[in-house]
Amino acid sequence: MPAQANKPLISLVVPFYNEQEAVAPFFARTVPILEAMADLRFEIVCINDGSTDETLRRLIAASARDARVNVIDLTRNFGKEAALTAGIDEAIGDAVIPIDADLQDPPELIPAMVEHWLNGAEVVAAKRTDRDDDTLAKRTAAALYYRAHNALSEIKLLRNVGDYRLMDREVVNALCLLPERRRFMKGLFAWVGYRTVIVEYKREPRSAGRSKFSGWQLWNFALEGITGFSTVPLRCWNYLGALIAVGAFLYAGVVVAKTLLFGNPVAGYSSLISVMLFLGGIELIGIGVIGEYIGRIYYESKGRPVYLVHRRYRGNAQESVTPIGNGAPSPRRNLKLVSTRRRPPARARASGSGH
Ligand code: UDP
Ligand code: MG
Repeated sequence: MPAQANKPLISLVVPFYNEQEAVAPFFARTVPILEAMADLRFEIVCINDGSTDETLRRLIAASARDARVNVIDLTRNFGKEAALTAGIDEAIGDAVIPIDADLQDPPELIPAMVEHWLNGAEVVAAKRTDRDDDTLAKRTAAALYYRAHNALSEIKLLRNVGDYRLMDREVVNALCLLPERRRFMKGLFAWVGYRTVIVEYKREPRSAGRSKFSGWQLWNFALEGITGFSTVPLRCWNYLGALIAVGAFLYAGVVVAKTLLFGNPVAGYSSLISVMLFLGGIELIGIGVIGEYIGRIYYESKGRPVYLVHRRYRGNAQESVTPIGNGAPSPRRNLKLVSTRRRPPARARASGSGH
């Protein structure tokens, strides 16, 4: 059907990790919304990120019922960032929308996002207007994090904007060109830039199951973001060192003057030991920060793929995949050069905001 083929294709990219209870509600709520947009076609790229429950079987069943559902089964749990990367690589849409499986990102927002896209926005980012569902500790930590990240990094993150967004094919292609293995997606999304429009939404509670991220994982995720996008933590030690050296020099002058004036009464064991311990602590922190970066250089230098695909399922077809060996980059399969979105007249294009 040529008319059908000319309609722009929207790809939803959905990572699933042990989400067996979330599978059915996700399709039940999302598919009617997508079907209601009659001028568009859609595909739903589901990534099974090494689930150990019934998730994969349920996804395969969903795909068998509806060939617009495409299942990418990874060989193990690679983490959400890798799962998203896999989905974005596999998606062939003119616009790609990463969305969580647990319905915390309301799919009702998709028509508004698509509208902005058809009017010329290249990125439509969804910003949560409240964090009422989060604990006070999580809210405070998130606020501090955005502040710290944006102070330290040249790449500014949009506050309270997560992975839920629409990206034009051009933006997706740009993302696919970024070679890093440690993929802090929010940072990469911000790094590529493009004309961004914000739509606001209220984040809902999880449809089922529990969050996959512990406090410790979130802390490591935060470190990943800062070390991935800023070298300030590495460089600040020069300045701290210089400050301490100047202080030590001045203090040495005071000690010499005192000795000359008042002789040398031996005193100060406690002050000596506290200065030593203080400086030892500072040095260890400095070495630790260097270690954080060296660890990341180590991982990057191995050049391992970000993820491995085990099988692909679409409709009743199943495709097994030869693993890419030799640390070759993950296949960036679908570098279509242009989107088939109808370009609006220049004056109707949305103006940029955000970055
Ligand atoms: N997820 C994943 N791999 C992981 C952890 C999470 O694919 O290792 C998926 C998860 O299934 C969900 C999305 O990432 O679709 C967001 O996870 P979650 O809801 O646990 O995070 P939160 O909303 O609590 O930040
Ligand atoms: Mg969630």
